[in-house]
Amino acid sequence: MSDLHTLSVATLAERLRSKQVSAVEVAIRFLARTGGNPHNAFLDIDSEVTLAQARASDAKLANGTAGPLEGVPVAHKDVFVTRDFATTAGSKILKDYRSPFDATVVQRLRAAGMVSLGKLNCDEFAMGSSNENSAYGAVTNPWDATRVPGGSSGGSAAAVAAGLTPAATGTDTGGSIRQPAAFCGITGIKPTYGRASRYGMIAYASSLDQAGPMARSAEDCALLLSAMCGPDLDRDATSLDVPVENFSAKLGNSLAGVRVGIPKEFFGDGLASDVRSAIDAALSQLQALGAQLVPISLPRTELSIPVYYIIAPAEASSNLSRFDGVKFGHRTQDHTDLVSMYKKTRAEGFGEEVKRRIMTGAYVLSHGYYDAYYLQAQKIRRMIADDFQRAFAECDVIAGPVAPTVAWTLGHNANDPLADYLADIFTLPASLAGLPGMSLPVGFGQAGMPVGMQLIGNYLQEAQLLNVAHQYQMNTDFHLQQPAGVSNS
Ligand code: GLN
Repeated sequence: MSDLHTLSVATLAERLRSKQVSAVEVAIRFLARTGGNPHNAFLDIDSEVTLAQARASDAKLANGTAGPLEGVPVAHKDVFVTRDFATTAGSKILKDYRSPFDATVVQRLRAAGMVSLGKLNCDEFAMGSSNENSAYGAVTNPWDATRVPGGSSGGSAAAVAAGLTPAATGTDTGGSIRQPAAFCGITGIKPTYGRASRYGMIAYASSLDQAGPMARSAEDCALLLSAMCGPDLDRDATSLDVPVENFSAKLGNSLAGVRVGIPKEFFGDGLASDVRSAIDAALSQLQALGAQLVPISLPRTELSIPVYYIIAPAEASSNLSRFDGVKFGHRTQDHTDLVSMYKKTRAEGFGEEVKRRIMTGAYVLSHGYYDAYYLQAQKIRRMIADDFQRAFAECDVIAGPVAPTVAWTLGHNANDPLADYLADIFTLPASLAGLPGMSLPVGFGQAGMPVGMQLIGNYLQEAQLLNVAHQYQMNTDFHLQQPAGVSNS
């Protein structure tokens, strides 16, 4: 079965259940593919751990206690803490750090039967849009190794696109699942804030951070999302007390009469024409499937950039204060007293972008500036959420681009961090409102790079997003296309 690495999660699960292949065989196949670390996608691999999990899965498959995804491989973004692999969050400050426990999401996917292939590269503490902020080097895009995979879940997106794993976890604070999924031609969903537990997910901006699956199709994402979500009330104070749904069971609905809102602010001058044509074609396809396109407005779309880049750094400056050389990770060798130990440890351990955000965050929270920046941003955040509720009075889902352009070349924004911030414009609004959002591949643009379409739903409407994406994917084949060389490698 040389095609194992091109199979969907759904098909792999079925072949494992029907004993056409064993979990150990599947694990060996994927471990072989990760050898040499293509695209620099992985930060930690341990074949002993993976094979031990696979053997345990085979035992369960044999004795009838198998979970729904038993034996199917997954790999985790390196911001989820894991007992069996190192966890660095892409930062030098956590080099070689090992957690004494597994994040809830990691633990739930294992309980569903998934076998972990290791940890995936990402921007340091999930701050970034290109994966170039990782202390362990950039990830390259499997469609064109001179381009970025997107970020911050760049390792996750590249690994799925390159057939190094059938599925991965990601986290999305301001777009980090949707944008890399779009740049690498895969499917990813960020659920409603509170659906997935943040326990054991290293915090960047706690009021925005949310975990989600990245895989080739909506069908695969539905399988993982059902397994990883659900209340975790004792361990995450923002966990929603809402039972998890069987998202896979809700993929069969026709699009007839579904109202798809098209926000005019998502189709302005900043949108590259290649991305626009692919999105327009996808919207026509939705129409052909019975959906009705409804013009809507999200008037504060542009404001989402300053609002996000005040709130997220503010929360980050607070969250990252725990990395001080005392409790976790790196401690400087070179200090004279406690204060110099703190200062040097943080100066040595954090990268440039993380330092920039800690400083911005500390500034906007400081006495005298708090009202002008942080409080003001919170007020506009509420208005952005209200704008969505007005829009959802007229439509069932919202559709538009994920990013203004296809993946840019490595180093392109190296001297211009603001350029990366501005490119987050279409993913930030749903994050600020806490709404579910997803990305699905809908074509190719400039230089043959994938284009992703974004779907945004109202609170807890993940099933509807996944259904729209699935109906589209049943009638198109963009999600089945792979970078050159993947299928026959
Ligand atoms: N690009 C955004 C940032 O740099 C989003 C990152 C994310 O969602 N983790 O903050």
